[in-house]
Amino acid sequence: MSGLGQQHRDRIAANWAAVVNDVANAATAAGRSPGDVKIIGVTKYVDAETTAALVDAGCYDLGENRPQVLWEKAESEWIDDSVRWHIIGHLQRNKVRRTLRHSPIIHSIDSSRLLDAIATESVAQNKTTDAMLEVNISGDDAKTGMNVDELKSLLEKFGPSAGGVRVIGLMAMAGWGTEVDQARDQFAKVRALSDQLKDQTEHPLTELSMGMSGDFQAAIAEGSTMVRIGSRLFEGVMDAH
Ligand SMILES: *Cc1c(COP(=O)(O)O)cnc(C)c1O
Repeated sequence: MSGLGQQHRDRIAANWAAVVNDVANAATAAGRSPGDVKIIGVTKYVDAETTAALVDAGCYDLGENRPQVLWEKAESEWIDDSVRWHIIGHLQRNKVRRTLRHSPIIHSIDSSRLLDAIATESVAQNKTTDAMLEVNISGDDAKTGMNVDELKSLLEKFGPSAGGVRVIGLMAMAGWGTEVDQARDQFAKVRALSDQLKDQTEHPLTELSMGMSGDFQAAIAEGSTMVRIGSRLFEGVMDAH
């Protein structure tokens, strides 16, 4: 339950309803079922109380890019325990243990050392962690993620039966300042890479985490199964906070 003022709660509920509607329309336009695209509410811009208002509106998948903030919110009195957390930014290996206590889906595996650390700690915590490999498809040096060669060698090294982790898909962001049609080309490349890796490896790779507030329609047209939406959900609320 959120302690936020009613006006802001209403605005967040309206923003959520609009995003749900737009995502469903984009899926339908792409000949897909709206249920095939999960919306991750990215709450990195707002505090725990504001985050709780989004949960009250019906968003039970929350993404944070900083592990410490995820811990704080997951452990705060405001946020419902039924939330599924998603880590969408760089995860330092020394933060893996505390992060995994909250059983998040990890979108942003950017090295084999991190994947190994997650696998080891997951086994220690007696759980299996769903993880995605972050691919730098734009070739943009400022972007995080692995290039295609790094990603392939990681998948060869880390077999599907290694334990502790299931590699469920790929995550990508369009390059900075990319126009929407260029973003769509980049998303198409990620999808093609995913199809290729599905043929070449035994990893499940059923998920594609791509698309943000500015480009989710293009991502859904290219097969995204998880869109990570932040700023659109907090329009009219963020600057007031
Ligand atoms: C902030 C962030 C998002 C959400 O971006 P918006 O443009 O605010 O929707 C999605 N993915 C990642 C990795 C992010 O850091």
